[in-house]
Amino acid sequence: MYIQDKTYLALISREEKDLSMRFYVPTDIYVEKDCVKNHAQNLLAIGKHAFIMTGKTSAKKNGSLNDVIAVLDAGHVPYQVFDQVEENPSTDTVGNAAQQAREFGADYIIGIGGGSAIDAAKAAALLLANPNVLADNLHKAPEKPLNHVPVVAVPTTCGTGSEATPVAIITNHKIHLKKSIPHRIFPALALVDGKYLASAKKTLIINTAVDALSHMVESILNIYSNAFNRMCPEYGLKLWGELKDVLLSDAPIDESLYEKLMLTSTIAGMSIAHTSTTVPHGMSYDLTLNQGTPHGPAVGYFLAGYVDVCEKKVPEDVKRILTLLGLKSTADFSEMLDKLIGKCKVSREMRDQFAAAMKVNRSKLDLVPGGMTPEEVDSIYEKSLTLE
Ligand code: NAP
Ligand code: ZN
Repeated sequence: MYIQDKTYLALISREEKDLSMRFYVPTDIYVEKDCVKNHAQNLLAIGKHAFIMTGKTSAKKNGSLNDVIAVLDAGHVPYQVFDQVEENPSTDTVGNAAQQAREFGADYIIGIGGGSAIDAAKAAALLLANPNVLADNLHKAPEKPLNHVPVVAVPTTCGTGSEATPVAIITNHKIHLKKSIPHRIFPALALVDGKYLASAKKTLIINTAVDALSHMVESILNIYSNAFNRMCPEYGLKLWGELKDVLLSDAPIDESLYEKLMLTSTIAGMSIAHTSTTVPHGMSYDLTLNQGTPHGPAVGYFLAGYVDVCEKKVPEDVKRILTLLGLKSTADFSEMLDKLIGKCKVSREMRDQFAAAMKVNRSKLDLVPGGMTPEEVDSIYEKSLTLE
């Protein structure tokens, strides 16, 4: 029985739950320099007609698109490129991509880019296999699990870990909603190469690394955390702790660290693949939707407030997180995040609106160890957002 099956979890006691552990990341993941070229055969074995999804420019600039195309050309696999995935991809974009992929006769999808391109590739893979599902209905729970065509993920940011999660976060502008779709789509293959970070500005690396940090912290401060799945965030937080001084310094990031940044992000993805994200992610979506805040900082603004609230509930877990990061206190944790991403300003009206929505967001609140009161939700918003 899968650990995230809530009906099952509701029926068993806490002790039994602790014994009910499963580790499940079915993606074939390679983390190494030149891994697209090195694992060309794995890529070619996935299908016969490839549909490639990327953002507008970065995959062309950082060499990832060329690397994939070189493998497909050498293997005589026909492909079509869709380079219109925007940040925080929309149902419209995903629907258009799936339509083009269908007309092309694609039997698999390769997502190259940050979380946006990979998530869009996952959602398009679902639509491609289910012609009756409309993109506008992607957020509706299906009556039974739906199939999807295989997805290959080539990440070029070091934050979302989407290459190792079953999650796709899609925005439906018609109903003003940014949320994960209720379908589990693990990529079949993930080719993770740190060299694609060479073209990334330090701000992008910091922003996405803060996302990876949040994934690991939220995975531990989570009711689904257990000894088995904790292996990932515990190891990843140690790596993140070793990277933090470089992230905090004004100096450019040495290329020798790119692989470690990517590895940490993939491990952080594996962490949330078992537990899902919790309150800081739930709070971030409104901020991104209403103010266009990039995903990493949008989550990071709420992270210290979440850790503060959880310190009262699960002090040993918070202590462990701080130790792994090489920090002494929650105040140090908060100061570190301030230095990395600064503060976020919103109007009082906006903040009250966000808080009201979060207080009824059971899908995230129910994951907090010991639960979360409306007052605790308010305290996180007060700590995290400054008023204009
Ligand atoms: P992103 O939205 O994919 O990309 C942000 C920007 O970075 C884009 O302008 C992109 O340019 C550029 N970029 C990407 N790689 C680059 C590189 N190597 N060098 C220079 N620029 C580069 O950012 P992200 O933070 O990786 O993804 C955020 C999305 O993922 C959000 O929608 C978030 O909700 C979602 N997410 C998903 C999961 C999951 O498990 N599936 C987890 C957390 C977050 P182009 O547009 O030109 O490519
Ligand atoms: Zn995230």
